[in-house]
Amino acid sequence: MSITTMGTAAKRRSYRERLYDQQSGMCHWCGKRMSLNRKKTGQPARDFATFEHLIRRVEGGSMGPDNIILAHRVCNYHREIARQAGEFYERHDRQ
Ligand SMILES: [Zn+2]
Repeated sequence: MSITTMGTAAKRRSYRERLYDQQSGMCHWCGKRMSLNRKKTGQPARDFATFEHLIRRVEGGSMGPDNIILAHRVCNYHREIARQAGEFYERHDRQ
C-alpha cells in the first residue's frame, strides 16, 4: 500500500467518523444505530455505516458534505429498490 493510498483511507475514515457524530450514530433512513465496526476479515459489519449520496451524482448531486449522509448498507439497498419501483410506477401511470 502506498503512502498516498494510506492517506486517502485515513481521510475517509475521519470523514465517516465526523458524519457519524453529526448523525449521533443513527441511520439516515431507518433511524436505528449504525456501527463503524469491521469484521476481522476487513469486511464491514452488517450494520456498518456506509456513505450515501442524497442526490445521485448522475442527477447532478454534488460530492460535497451537504449531499452525503451515512446509512446502513441494507437501507441504501432498499431505498434504491424503492426508488426504481417508484420510477417504474410513475412511468406506468402516465401511459
Ligand atoms: Zn438503516
